[in-house]
Amino acid sequence: MIEKKMFVDGQWTEALSGKTREIINPFNREVIARVPEGDREDATRAVKAARQAFDAGDWPQTPGSVRGELVYDLGRLIERDREELAELETLNTGKTLEESRWDMDDIASIFKYYAGLADKDRGEVIESPIPKSSSRVVREPVGVCAQISPWNYPLLQASWKMAPALTAGCTIVMKPSSITPLTTIKVTELAEEAGFPPGVVNTVLGPGNSLGAELAESPEVDLISFTGGIETGRKIMQAAAGNIKKIALELGGKNPNIIFADADFDLALDSVLSGALFHAGQICSAGARVLVQDQIHDRFVQSLLSRMQRIKLGNGLDSGTQMGPLISAEHLKKVEDYVRIALEEGAVLQCGGERPSAPELRNGFFYTPTLFTDCKNEMRIIQEEIFGPVISLESFQTEQEALDLANSTVYGLSAGFWTRDPDRIHRMSQGLRFGTVWINDFNIYFTQAPWGGYKQSGLGRELGRAGLEEYTETKHIFQNHAPQATNWFGA
Ligand code: NAD
Repeated sequence: MIEKKMFVDGQWTEALSGKTREIINPFNREVIARVPEGDREDATRAVKAARQAFDAGDWPQTPGSVRGELVYDLGRLIERDREELAELETLNTGKTLEESRWDMDDIASIFKYYAGLADKDRGEVIESPIPKSSSRVVREPVGVCAQISPWNYPLLQASWKMAPALTAGCTIVMKPSSITPLTTIKVTELAEEAGFPPGVVNTVLGPGNSLGAELAESPEVDLISFTGGIETGRKIMQAAAGNIKKIALELGGKNPNIIFADADFDLALDSVLSGALFHAGQICSAGARVLVQDQIHDRFVQSLLSRMQRIKLGNGLDSGTQMGPLISAEHLKKVEDYVRIALEEGAVLQCGGERPSAPELRNGFFYTPTLFTDCKNEMRIIQEEIFGPVISLESFQTEQEALDLANSTVYGLSAGFWTRDPDRIHRMSQGLRFGTVWINDFNIYFTQAPWGGYKQSGLGRELGRAGLEEYTETKHIFQNHAPQATNWFGA
């Protein structure tokens, strides 16, 4: 049994109330850890420490090159402990060890990438229209940043926030999802080992609707960065309005993967499987909404079906496992509800649609890979995020129809399409209203490229240079080198 604490002002601490929470393995429901269950007062205490470290500490004024070294060291420590972190992530989320290892490599590269930007591009000199004057535009750290992450990619999503904020010179209060805190706690330990000053990195644990809400409401917080569901995002926006804090939101997606008849059939098929079913579909960019041109529709369904029925469910720690469980009983119920709704709305179930019967999976939150065909645009499984191993397939005739269908959602996170026609590539990539568009690929993202949503999929961008800019304020500094008296009002 792992026992962990929160990290506030450089100290490992219990919740002020003394309450704790058990963390379970979704593969078998076994309790794997016990952690503090903080509340509003724990958030307040951490915000105070971060405020003090920002307002009175050296961190914001520390040269970028020095900050960058610490951020880089943290990346190196993550590489050193990659295997331990990967196993912890798999134990806590159920995802396969291969996926977790990939996450950890990506996470280390995120810290190293931002470390490299720490002493670059801190501003520019601009032309001043006033004679004998100069103007500089500088970028300064925003201040105290509250950062709230979800359970699906616990440490990856946390690192998209921690690395740029620390690089920019902000102080942070990180709140991981209450059910998947373990790797974020471990990385906080590594931040302590790297030597970040007390109060710069704080990690608090507790429920979103109390401790998380306090972070969103606190007048002492300058920026809130949140990744999670759209409804929580709305609440965060409202709470943040109190002191007009800066907001960065990475919300859900309903991501179309469009297969034209001239596509490379086998590659497109692979992309649908991995794009929709990776991590049991619990990805904001899951390509769970598949649009197939009618000439190849029936063949595509048959091929997809035979591949989906062969997917091996199991323990993420076992090497043969291709898909782990869903995260929780509550989430499993949500996926089951959507499957019931799909059937009621007339979608045709081709496979899955149930919990697996194998006895070795009985204790876990497993759901079989599920395929629906004959889906219509107005159905809820087409318009709403399911976040499970459920693919919905629609057919279309023309390019314009595919574009209209793909865009007809409140979400705008990511979309992909498969075709060999260069003119269509141009038209489609312009027409799709999504933050990321993949051409002849799906679910590709990397540290250097900005990530974020159009429409209700979010506000702002993470990753890339844009991800660093989120954590900076822009200041214009004007100096008159030959000031003269001005008098607007007469003698
Ligand atoms: P969620 O919204 O339930 O919770 C996310 C986090 O917010 C958790 O830490 C939770 O404790 C906290 N929270 C809950 N209520 C809160 C409140 N009132 N105030 C402050 N914090 C609160 O989301 P989830 O179920 O953990 O994650 C799944 C969602 O995350 C999906 O919708 C998915 O699409 C989205 N997501 C988006 C991206 C992206 O890059 N756009 C990436 C990963 C996940």
